[in-house]
Amino acid sequence: MHSFLRISLACVLALFLTNCGAINLFPVSEDQRLGASFDAEIRKDPKQYPPYADPAATRYVQTIVDSITKAPQVRYRGIFPYRVQLLRDDATINAFCTPGGYIYVYTGLLKAIDNEATLAGVLGHEIAHAERRHSTNRMTTQLGLQTLTNIAIGSTSGREVQLAANAFTGLGLLQNSRNDEEEADAYSFTYLQHTHWYPGGILFFFEKVKGRSGSSLDRLLSTHPLPEDRITQTQARLQDANIAPPTDASLGERPYAAFKRSLR
Ligand SMILES: [Zn+2]
Repeated sequence: MHSFLRISLACVLALFLTNCGAINLFPVSEDQRLGASFDAEIRKDPKQYPPYADPAATRYVQTIVDSITKAPQVRYRGIFPYRVQLLRDDATINAFCTPGGYIYVYTGLLKAIDNEATLAGVLGHEIAHAERRHSTNRMTTQLGLQTLTNIAIGSTSGREVQLAANAFTGLGLLQNSRNDEEEADAYSFTYLQHTHWYPGGILFFFEKVKGRSGSSLDRLLSTHPLPEDRITQTQARLQDANIAPPTDASLGERPYAAFKRSLR
């Protein structure tokens, strides 16, 4: 039996006792393993994931990520790589983060938005999916109580669970639930409160995608459900936290305009 399963037995029993459901059967190393193998798959498939190899542009986005991950609520800074890679596809307005913190951003997103605060809001949201371990949480739920019971009574081997876990690969890992989306928005907001950017920047992103439809959004909406609630929730957060209206400085419009002009 894998050692992480033994460690998780206590969690399984806790689940039975409390019936809370908020457990993750997998150790953090599983998020790291999944992320590294997903990242390797992406690099092996430049047809589906064409890299946008521009070191200056990548550095610019990475600098924003590095500012966000300095927020005290980011627990896996230094444990997850939180490394940005840009993908060349102007028709895809999306970004995603694998479990374990490999961040991918499409040129379509970079070109569609107008300031750093918006990009920071989206990046914070992606970082939160990795931080909150949404993929392995969902894997735990989908493995189901029966499997958890079998593990607890010793009738399921670590190998079987590993095989079941391996079934959740590719984009399936990134199919976020509505709850995951809302939690990622909430955490992104908190992270951004520790930066100089306006923490409501993701609102501009919601506005952009609301007005569009068609294939450029298919992938976005398949991994990031966009209920109207996310807009009202962000507005409520701005109000509750007494956030001042955005300024030129807190939006970072000027540096972003220069960055956008540099994109090919
Ligand atoms: Zn999301």
